[in-house]
Amino acid sequence: MNFEFETKHKVLRKAVREFAEEEIKPYAREIDERDEYPLEIYKKLVKMGYPAVRIPEKYGGLGFNVLDTVIVGEEMARVSCSVGLLSGIEALTSLPITLFGSEEQKEKYLTGIAKGKFIGAFALTEPCCGSDAGSIQTKAVEQGDEYVIEGTKTFISAGLVADFFVVFARTGKVEDKHRGISAFIVERDENVETRKVPVMGFRGTGTAEVTFKGCHVPKENLIGEKNEGFSVAMFSLDESRIYASSAGIGLSQAAYEESLKYAKQRVAFGKPLIKRQAIQRMLTDMAMDIEIMRLLTYKAAWLKDKGDLEYVKLASMAKLYSAMKTVEITRNAIQIFGGYGYSRENNLERYYRDAKLVEIGEGTNEVQRYILMKSLLGKIFI
Ligand SMILES: Cc1cc2nc3c(=O)[nH]c(=O)nc-3n(C[C@H](O)[C@H](O)[C@H](O)COP(=O)(O)OP(=O)(O)OC[C@H]3O[C@@H](n4cnc5c(N)ncnc54)[C@H](O)[C@@H]3O)c2cc1C
Repeated sequence: MNFEFETKHKVLRKAVREFAEEEIKPYAREIDERDEYPLEIYKKLVKMGYPAVRIPEKYGGLGFNVLDTVIVGEEMARVSCSVGLLSGIEALTSLPITLFGSEEQKEKYLTGIAKGKFIGAFALTEPCCGSDAGSIQTKAVEQGDEYVIEGTKTFISAGLVADFFVVFARTGKVEDKHRGISAFIVERDENVETRKVPVMGFRGTGTAEVTFKGCHVPKENLIGEKNEGFSVAMFSLDESRIYASSAGIGLSQAAYEESLKYAKQRVAFGKPLIKRQAIQRMLTDMAMDIEIMRLLTYKAAWLKDKGDLEYVKLASMAKLYSAMKTVEITRNAIQIFGGYGYSRENNLERYYRDAKLVEIGEGTNEVQRYILMKSLLGKIFI
């Protein structure tokens, strides 16, 4: 066994941390307050190649593996979860195309993301169904050489600004549930309507309700096989759960670092807070939980990178543990700061709001337990 990162990983972490501290941190609070997609920051991410971390080098991406991508996600989330998600959502959107797309789709859309020509979005969730994704109602009806797509998606990250959407739509009967779903690339045109959905955390990520009002897409825009779209979605989400977990690590690390520093400085009843056992316990548990989150997340990434399907189980464990502990750690960080933690003049309340999404996005805590139970019973579905 070897728990040591390789030199290339250490170099990568240092580079991302420097970039995040210099180019993102100064704007993190403003991005949250304005809740507007920060296009100028996105352009900086494109220059660094971060939206294209998982895109093969052949198509202009960085060609990183999952562990490399976790390091990038962790360091971005340490300064701004929102900015981390700007890259993360492009990783999630590019995965279905990288894994199941045609050569033409890869040339156009992967290269487009890598060059900053396109912003993509991943559109699975609908007003009717999030966890129960096999019941989605958006339809894709064959008409000659085209499909006509009709339906509404909601909570779509980057939906407000996306140039194209990876859309999951019903091509079979409703009774077919997840077996009657296909994945398509739909470019934005006058038949795509978007409405901003104001959200509690991860603000500035362009969260939108997206309505496809009879969008005509050529048959070549089908990703993979007809009626195999649910597998396309799940295969992508199984991997991106590891990235959601890494966002929790970054967020928790930031909350921990700030609390530790504050506990050393703040004096109450004649002693710094750090001298009090009640405060020490919160800090020691934070440090321990962050370590456990890391071990689970890095192991999930390592398994995925070596093609071991056991990663599905570890990804759910990592995401679930990371989500629960990130909420607890950010809440305790506010506690250590007292009123100053509750104040919007500090970062802590933003961290707490951001943390809550880790328990909901990419499969809720309850859904992770469902996947875990299936894995424990030997029924891994990807
Ligand atoms: C800020 C934000 C960004 C998002 N970005 C995207 C995106 O880019 N693309 C996208 O497709 N989606 C996105 N989502 C949607 C997200 O994935 C869903 O919100 C999530 O999957 C939960 O679905 P739901 O909201 O419909 O809740 P529901 O599925 O309605 O669940 C409600 C509650 O019931 C619980 N529940 C449901 N079924 C069961 C069950 N069988 N047993 C026990 N409990 C159950 C859930 O765990 C949850 O607690 C985003 C959401 C948010 C808030």
